Amino acid sequence: MTVLRVALDDFSANLRAIASRVAPAAHMLVVKDDAYGHGLAPLIRRAWDDGIRWFGAFDVATGTAVRAELGPDPRVFVWVVGTRDEAAAAVREGLDVGVGDAALLEDIARAATDAGTAARVHLKIDSGLHRNGVRPEEWPAFTARAADLERSGAIEVVGVWSHIAEASDAEDDSAREDFDTAWAGALAAGLRPSLRHLAASAAAFARPEFRYDLVRVGAFAYGIRSAGGPDEAALGIRPIAALRSEVATVDDGAVVIGIGALDGLPSTLAGLVEIGTPAGPRRLLRVDAHSSVVEGWTDAAPGDPVTIYGPAETGAPSATTLAEAIGTIGEEIALRVSPLIRRELRRTSGD
Ligand SMILES: *Cc1c(COP(=O)(O)O)cnc(C)c1O
Repeated sequence: MTVLRVALDDFSANLRAIASRVAPAAHMLVVKDDAYGHGLAPLIRRAWDDGIRWFGAFDVATGTAVRAELGPDPRVFVWVVGTRDEAAAAVREGLDVGVGDAALLEDIARAATDAGTAARVHLKIDSGLHRNGVRPEEWPAFTARAADLERSGAIEVVGVWSHIAEASDAEDDSAREDFDTAWAGALAAGLRPSLRHLAASAAAFARPEFRYDLVRVGAFAYGIRSAGGPDEAALGIRPIAALRSEVATVDDGAVVIGIGALDGLPSTLAGLVEIGTPAGPRRLLRVDAHSSVVEGWTDAAPGDPVTIYGPAETGAPSATTLAEAIGTIGEEIALRVSPLIRRELRRTSGD
């Protein structure tokens, strides 16, 4: 049996570490992709109980799921709204909408007018990533139009935001200059937003001047460090998930475990990493569809537990350490875990 154990108290500890690191900025917990594959509902429930008041949902479907679980009180931010129906749903659910193009601004305003309400919007400046967002040369017209719509009662502009690559400090610094200029432009257009948000996990931790009012942190909340970045101890976080499987058969010293590529274990890891076993780390030799072969150990027996990734005391690598072996990021390892694998809630990973 393969399970993903998710430790809720460890998650809470990460949330506390983030809160103290980024204060006085607030933490918007990013929960896209089913809370990075950990399972949305129990994690947002715990986060709400721990005092998280902002959730970054990515799309309207996820935003709606957060509302269904937590009710009307949390602020739920979505930034991918593809159709007019989705715009209407976002308004109906009382979501905060990140708006990075002029057409969406009109759709949101129309949906809010139809609903007899004012939509809360956060205007997005493209500060260099070219992944949606309004270009600086279009910003004056965009903010002027937003100010008109605000005066008409259709929208309330509550924030200005952007997303940065977090790849090089120099690029991020230049993005931050564009961001500050956009903020000043929004004020000059007569808008009075109160929220600026720019940073995700890495910049929120490493660069105080990027924190502004809110930081949108996902990965570090789940204990997933950045590939090539500081380790968990330096960040003060720990992985909340352990991907556990067990020995299926032992044949001539070769240990076959019950997890394979179709369960979400990248086959390219074969030969490159070690996993946690009762006898200590052992090399992953081969990954098949629903099973894998691991270097053997004395007394290995069917039913012995193995840990593919997890917190350090499991003897397994972290998701990010696996990712680094194949040139990707820890989030990808977490997101690959098949939704068919049960998420098993625990208090701590030691349970
Ligand atoms: C995913 C995402 C985040 C969170 O990034 P992490 O590195 O996981 O903290 C923040 N902002 C946006 C726009 C995102 O898409």
